[in-house]
Amino acid sequence: MEEYKKEVFLTTSNILLTSSQFFLRNFEVLKKNTMNHFLSLLCIFLLMLKSIASFSQTVKGTSQEVNTTTPKNIVLLIGDGMGLSQISAGFFYGDQPSNFERFPVVGLLKTSASSDLITDSAASGTAYASGIKTYNGAIGMTKDTVAVKTIVELVSESDMSTGLIATSSITHATPASFYAHVASRRSYEEIATFLPHSDVDFFAGGGLKFFSERSDGRDLISELEQQGFELSTQSLPKQPSEKKQAILLAEDALPTMLEGRGNFLPEATQLALDHLSENTNGFFLMVEGSQIDWGGHANDADYLIAEQLDFDTTIGVVLAYMIENPDTLLIVTADHETGGFTLATDTGDYNKIKPSFSTTGHSASLIPIFAKGPGANLFGGIYENTGVFHKIMDLLENR
Ligand code: MG
Ligand code: ZN
Repeated sequence: MEEYKKEVFLTTSNILLTSSQFFLRNFEVLKKNTMNHFLSLLCIFLLMLKSIASFSQTVKGTSQEVNTTTPKNIVLLIGDGMGLSQISAGFFYGDQPSNFERFPVVGLLKTSASSDLITDSAASGTAYASGIKTYNGAIGMTKDTVAVKTIVELVSESDMSTGLIATSSITHATPASFYAHVASRRSYEEIATFLPHSDVDFFAGGGLKFFSERSDGRDLISELEQQGFELSTQSLPKQPSEKKQAILLAEDALPTMLEGRGNFLPEATQLALDHLSENTNGFFLMVEGSQIDWGGHANDADYLIAEQLDFDTTIGVVLAYMIENPDTLLIVTADHETGGFTLATDTGDYNKIKPSFSTTGHSASLIPIFAKGPGANLFGGIYENTGVFHKIMDLLENR
């Protein structure tokens, strides 16, 4: 595609160059000759311009015809707190080859918030969901606390389906950024009120208590059912529902991998893919490996690595889906790095890795982004995290 564009650009430039040379070469002659001669030269020049214009049109038409860069489905996988060392841990501690090796396109993201050099998950989630820089703590709001449309709302306008999955509460900052609009990420009960009336067609995670045991007495469980959701609170359903689907399997966060969360994330992702595939208009699905971040905050390498490997497995589920559904674009990235995590040498022994942390908070390092599928080429390079939203929306505009 890039080669093709370059070629078209060179051909167009050559035509422009040739025609201007032609005009200049004839200018001397023109001065000496009659008005008639001038007019005929002008005609020739105009004809050339016209042919350049029609040539450009052909190019435009052709480029649309050969365009294999328009995805039907978009899957965005976010590893919360997943920097390059977290990803690398999957290569050293996993039993299987890492699924990160299977991406043809890799880039790096700058993640600073509007308020701070180091972002939190709310500002970063909002950057992905709405394409704007905002302050740390903001959910779906600008830095002046004005609500801004999310990708879930935008793609629903073109009748795509949408899904959200997290291993935290579904009201936690990352998933919340995709459907809620509140000034503070800590307003979990307020965040939950957005979900029954949102454009989300499928969601899975924890956070049941923010729907069922609220300080305002409002019953969001019945509101979900009134809005056409089938609710599961005991276990992950085996089959997708015909209705919209709400899955809340814990009062707050789901258990950690080390506590026995099992295959929730890969299985919920498979269920979401099956559910959302029913829509012939395509879908947008965001899946978060929420607890990689929490392993980082806890400076607990075993916790972090178990969550990282679970996330890696989940990538494999989407990659397998893409074999049957090649019109799916998969983007994998993080919101920021957590823990200043590094795979350090153990006291100078270069054959021993000692996973180490430099902070219990987040860090400012660039964040890797991986892409595969139609439009993936757009995601290479180094750019702001807000660019991810704009690249996705540009791709969807061509549909
Ligand atoms: Mg998160
Ligand atoms: Zn964090």
